[in-house]
Order: sequence, then C-alpha cells, then structure tokens
Amino acid sequence: MKKTALITGSSRGIGAATAYALAEAGYAVCINYIEQRQKAEALVKALRDKGHTAICYRADVADASAVQAMAAHAGEELGQISLLVNNAGVAGQIQFQDITPDAWNRMFSVNLGGCFNCIQAVLPGMLKAHEGCIINVSSIWGSHGASCEVAYSCTKHAIIGLTRSLAAELAPTGIRVNCVAPGVIDTDMVKVLGEETLSMLAQEIPLGRLGKPQEIADTIVHLASATYTTGQVFSVDGGFIL
Ligand code: NAP
Repeated sequence: MKKTALITGSSRGIGAATAYALAEAGYAVCINYIEQRQKAEALVKALRDKGHTAICYRADVADASAVQAMAAHAGEELGQISLLVNNAGVAGQIQFQDITPDAWNRMFSVNLGGCFNCIQAVLPGMLKAHEGCIINVSSIWGSHGASCEVAYSCTKHAIIGLTRSLAAELAPTGIRVNCVAPGVIDTDMVKVLGEETLSMLAQEIPLGRLGKPQEIADTIVHLASATYTTGQVFSVDGGFIL
C-alpha cells in the first residue's frame, strides 16, 4: 500500500515541486492550497495523468478546524498520513516600526501556527501507527537575522526550535521531525523583490544562482527516507550562509 503525504502550500513553488517529487517517489499526496485552486487542480491532474494518486484540499493552515477537516479528508481518501511537510508560508518585507499587530499575528498564525495545527491534526494517527515523519520548512533567516524581515525571521527561528524540541519529545515513539532551511529559491515569494535585486542576490551566493524548487524537494524526499535522522536542520542555499 502507498504511503500518504500531506504537503501544505503545494499549489505552487517549493510545495508543488515537493508534492510532485513525493508522488514520483511513490507517495499518495494531498495537495493543500488557500487561493490558487486552479493551480492545485492542475497539479492533481498532471500527477494522475502519470498514474500517481493525488487529491487537493483548500484549507487555511492558520485555521485549526479547517486543518483538522483536511487531515480527516486526506486520511479517508488516501489512508493514514505518514508524512507531513509543513511548507505553507508567507513572507513580507517591511520595516519593524511599520508592522501592525494584525500583520505580525497573521505571519505567526500562518508560518508557525500552521505547523502547530497540522502537526496536532496528524500526530494522533502517527502515534497510533508508531511511525511518522514531519518535515518543517524554515529558511536561512531562521538562523540568521534579516533586515526588514523581522516577523518572518522570528517565525522561521521558531520553526527550528519546534523541530528540535518536538524531535526530542517524539523520538521514543519512532516519529522523526526534521527541517529544511532554503536559501533564495526561484518562486513567486521572491519574485516580488524584482529582477535587479535578485540578480544582485545571485552574485552574493557562492554557487552563483538562485535555487530551484526541485532542489528543496530533493532534500525533502531524502529526509522522508532518512530513517536515522531526526531533529536536524538542513540548509539548501547554494553556500549563501557558510
Ligand atoms: P510561494 O511560491 O509564495 O507559495 C506559497 C504556497 O503556500 C502556495 O501554495 C500558497 O497557496 C500557500 N499558502 C500561503 N498561505 C497559506 C495558508 N494560510 N494556508 C495554506 N496555504 C497557504 O512560496 P515558496 O517560495 O514556495 O515557499 C514555500 C516555503 O518555503 C515557505 O514556508 C517559505 O517561507 C519557505 N522559503 C522560501 C524561500 C524562497 O526563497 N522562495 C526561502 C526560504 C524559505 P496559494 O497558491 O493557494 O496561494
């Protein structure tokens, strides 16, 4: 029987590449989105056309009850979720003094609260099955400071703390928790920076270019089967932070 993976924020970008790669690796995948229904459905169709098992589900990861409903639906349609990839995230460049309390709270609710909600939704099943794998997507700004990205950086630091502490807590149950920390990856999230800034950033990266979503997906697929690895943070950043 196929293993089942829930990948949050997988209608595009890193999440879509990850859903694709996991389906190719033999997982039945649940693709999650919040707005881009057409992109999520197109990905489901592309995967089904290749003979893979895929469904999509709209849920705001910040909404605990919507996440519970998504996990229940995925479990019924695809079987027990054995792999959760907490990828959904939002970013925003703004000076600290201009961040409103609402914007601060929303960033935490999606980036960190989304991880909390999704883990709480899938963990009972994993505990019952005595196996499971959780992979959280942080950022290089989860271990280093970033001007004008204070809220984002705080959430990504917290995701690393969540990873390490939960890994320690869950290790005796056989459930592994790891984290991927991407550098600058060529997705919609960074396109807002504009071509000039991105080309300057590329020059600062030792490998001389932005990363591709597929390159993060490859690491996630590796971690999904790295059975003696838990509590670790893997930077995939072209050598940006050395
Ligand atoms: P992206 O291209 O902007 O895509 C974001 C994805 O998250 C979309 O599928 C979006 O769904 C979904 N999403 C956003 N808010 C959501 C919510 N509240 N509930 C459910 N889904 C939601 O982003 P990306 O670059 O692929 O980034 C993916 C992850 O990698 C994020 O956690 C990000 O912080 C992290 N990361 C990215 C970079 C980078 O350089 N790109 C670097 C470091 C870390 P819709 O399509 O429906 O809007």
